[in-house]
Amino acid sequence: MIYTYGCALKLKRVRKISRVVTTNVSLEALNTLAIPARAAHFAELTDLAQLPLLLQFARESDLNVFILGEGSNCVFASDYSGLVIQQRLQGIDVQSECSERVLVKVAAGENWHAFVQWCLANNFHGLENLALIPGTVGAAPIQNIGAYGVEVETFIERVHAIEIDSGKAVQFSHAQCQFAYRESVFKRALRDRVVITHVEFSLLKHFLAVSHYPSLSQQLTQPVTAQSLFDAVCTVRRSKLPDPIEIPNAGSFFKNPVISSDQLIELQRSFPSVVSYPVESEFKVAAGWLIDQAGWKQKQLDCVIVHHDQALVVTNPKHRPGASVLQYAYNIQSDIKRRFGIDLEIEPRVIC
Ligand SMILES: Cc1cc2nc3c(=O)[nH]c(=O)nc-3n(C[C@H](O)[C@H](O)[C@H](O)COP(=O)(O)OP(=O)(O)OC[C@H]3O[C@@H](n4cnc5c(N)ncnc54)[C@H](O)[C@@H]3O)c2cc1C
Repeated sequence: MIYTYGCALKLKRVRKISRVVTTNVSLEALNTLAIPARAAHFAELTDLAQLPLLLQFARESDLNVFILGEGSNCVFASDYSGLVIQQRLQGIDVQSECSERVLVKVAAGENWHAFVQWCLANNFHGLENLALIPGTVGAAPIQNIGAYGVEVETFIERVHAIEIDSGKAVQFSHAQCQFAYRESVFKRALRDRVVITHVEFSLLKHFLAVSHYPSLSQQLTQPVTAQSLFDAVCTVRRSKLPDPIEIPNAGSFFKNPVISSDQLIELQRSFPSVVSYPVESEFKVAAGWLIDQAGWKQKQLDCVIVHHDQALVVTNPKHRPGASVLQYAYNIQSDIKRRFGIDLEIEPRVIC
């Protein structure tokens, strides 16, 4: 009798899983580089209640789990043999507010730009400079997205997640997220170990313009308003970055390398026009400048090519496999090392 009851329960669970998990799914339309990789198992997470079932299925089937947002920072090196869970949870809730600040809890599957627009419409400030960054809210803390002098960490209060191994709900304070330039604990120690479900933002009630970036300030007239700053960011981004829908890409393909002042002086001896910015006691070198100087804007390999206006952006117009995109990137890395003695680090997540 117990055996029969157990079997019935198992059958019910298998039926439930087969309604949510599909097999052998193309990821080509789900990553902005248009890499034609396939996922052996795939599920969309639209209801948090589905997550325990999905994680249990992965554990019992001995499958690795990969959490996908909008695929704008991913390079699938090959097909994925585990379970891809696409984060689609929706919802924006105001938790509390005072005269200076408002605390907003946002579900991880919300589109980032739509959330920035929502903030603008509600007079909640701070995120204007991060307009038009592709992707989901849940991915924003992973690499601490940043643009035009603002990093998202400044406004992140707490991150809510579920542990993949145990299914336990966990929370991370701002300090526990260990944010740095394009970095966080979620990209290192907790990589593939948690599903971010919500992010809490502490936003400003009074607008404070961050408009010192030359490309932005050229677009702006005084007084700068939240709307004019948002518009200027959108205009500059549209003029500078290729739209992944037209030309598949993952934004900046390499991080700007950070070097010591001694290294910079050495570099300037051979390349006096090298573009660099001080960062605390070190210097950030413009990776795009290095790639441009090395003549990569004209070089095509297996139909992969850097963008003609943005040397930092590797494009994949013919939807070539991840291996072709990565081979192109490795060639750039070794050329830059040979010419300038600098190691370039790939910014998007490479999934093997
Ligand atoms: C044209 C273009 C311009 C860009 N400009 C910028 C820019 O200015 N600044 C900048 O910082 N970035 C930029 N990016 C990179 C990208 O937009 C961001 O990294 C974005 O946050 C990725 O979001 P996503 O939802 O697409 O994440 P995905 O690419 O789907 O995933 C990225 C990583 O995060 C993990 N992940 C995603 N969601 C979750 C979750 N809920 N829980 C756990 N792990 C998760 C994935 O497993 C993966 O490791 C740009 C990209 C493009 C294509």
